[in-house]
Amino acid sequence: MITLKTKAEMDNLVAVGAKLGRVFDRLSQEIRPGRSTYEISHLAKKFLREEGCKPTFEGYDGFPGAVCASVNSTLIHGIPRKDILLKEGDILSIDMGNVDDSGMQGDACRTFAVGNVSAEAQELIRCSEECFFEAYKILKPGIHLHEISMAIQRVADKYGFSLVKEYGGHGLGREMHEDPFIYNYYDATLGLGPILREGMCLAIEPMVMLGKPEIDVLDDGWTVKSRDGKINAHYENDVIITSTGAIITSVDSNVRRHLSELENKK
Ligand code: MG
Repeated sequence: MITLKTKAEMDNLVAVGAKLGRVFDRLSQEIRPGRSTYEISHLAKKFLREEGCKPTFEGYDGFPGAVCASVNSTLIHGIPRKDILLKEGDILSIDMGNVDDSGMQGDACRTFAVGNVSAEAQELIRCSEECFFEAYKILKPGIHLHEISMAIQRVADKYGFSLVKEYGGHGLGREMHEDPFIYNYYDATLGLGPILREGMCLAIEPMVMLGKPEIDVLDDGWTVKSRDGKINAHYENDVIITSTGAIITSVDSNVRRHLSELENKK
């Protein structure tokens, strides 16, 4: 069942999302060669606490880290480790969830370049962000859920990158994962899905793969990697469907830059 948020809940979602955005802005300054993914995770936790938030991934189904830190061929759910040191040219996705005293949750992801990265890696990151914003542009009450998936597929096809089938976006609110599941790819067998209504809160999180879409889950039970060893990018924001469109709650400088680009294109 997809829950509709009250006005007060929406206000709290906006506030908790803004806190997550500020943490991403601080964290983006800390990513550099030589740092371990454990150090990045430790800083994320510190920054979240300074915003009056708790990291929600820590202990979620037993996850052993404050955030997911996934480097290069790791697609999602990378466990922060002291022996995974960032190198120039790596790409690092940080997927982070937070909750504050209101009980509302945020969940967002950025893929960061570590120093100078290849043109291919830059394009992969750009594609993951464009997948999200192509979906964001069409959001309003009355559209079908799977139009989000169609928009993601359209952008990935344009770039010639692959999309993972096994993982997708989700509803969000008092729980990190609520209905509905949001496919991160599209084919016609999926149909159109439910109709979006004002008050729905969704975490839309395209995961784009440079190589083939096959994945493996490592023996640690968490780390999801591309089978062919090629790099992956993941980008996620939380949105609330309003009466006329949608607003993004997980706003950082990255989102502000995209929104002003969209505004300039109008
Ligand atoms: Mg998520």
